Amino acid sequence: MGVIFDIKRFAVHDGPGIRTTVFLKGCPLSCWWCHNPESIKQVPQKVFKKVKLNGKTFTEEEIVGKEVSVSEVMSQVNREKIVMDESGGGVTFSGGEPLAQPDFLLELLKASKSEGYHTAVDTSGFAKPEDFEKIAPFTNLFLYDLKLMDDDLHKKYTGVSNQLILKNLQFLCECEKSIRIRIPVIKGINDSIQNLNDSISFLKELMGIEQVDLLPHHHIGRGKYERFGLKYRMPDQQQITDIEMKSFEQLIESEGFKVKIGG
Ligand code: SF4
Repeated sequence: MGVIFDIKRFAVHDGPGIRTTVFLKGCPLSCWWCHNPESIKQVPQKVFKKVKLNGKTFTEEEIVGKEVSVSEVMSQVNREKIVMDESGGGVTFSGGEPLAQPDFLLELLKASKSEGYHTAVDTSGFAKPEDFEKIAPFTNLFLYDLKLMDDDLHKKYTGVSNQLILKNLQFLCECEKSIRIRIPVIKGINDSIQNLNDSISFLKELMGIEQVDLLPHHHIGRGKYERFGLKYRMPDQQQITDIEMKSFEQLIESEGFKVKIGG
């Protein structure tokens, strides 16, 4: 059994083809910019939302997250099997941090492989190396976040050091796994040329980086924070512009990487 908080069908940004993305609840990081604050706690949570009806506002109770078995998840996933097979898609496990529930994730990956699906794991990289070792044989593609190369800034903005994250990425490259790097580009936090150059230098030492996805940050998760009793720490700053994103894309491309804006 494990805890999930969403299943998204017909996803087109979480790996090749048309996919079903399963969101596992729980994350050891606490990134300032997180779009999914409902993913942080690993247990189902009771929250209240305001609903407007006929000019009146009502408060409605909602449980976010659900304990489910592997077979329950797979019966949901299999509903779109034909579409996924015909489009060259598959199943993506995201979060939260999917490796925060390593045994559940491993069983989901094994079940997906036995159904013949292409599998992807969308990870922050912050997990035990032995858990990466266990899931790697059942994972076709890793979508791997690279947020900040400066460790002090990484600790400040995510709550954890980046050392384990970088080490796990090196390990997966040594195992010759397919990897897409995902860089969330956040105005005033990691959009410096220094951080970009340090990221490129690190990636150039690795083998098997299939693509770099640049994900422009928008304040879209802000409204959820209050409902989950969390403080939104992102300052009200300008957002990254298309021109800035284009210049980052060109800089990374000029170093020989395939780059995509928006994942
Ligand atoms: S790693 Fe992802 S899910 Fe976890 S806090 Fe950061 S942005 Fe949110």
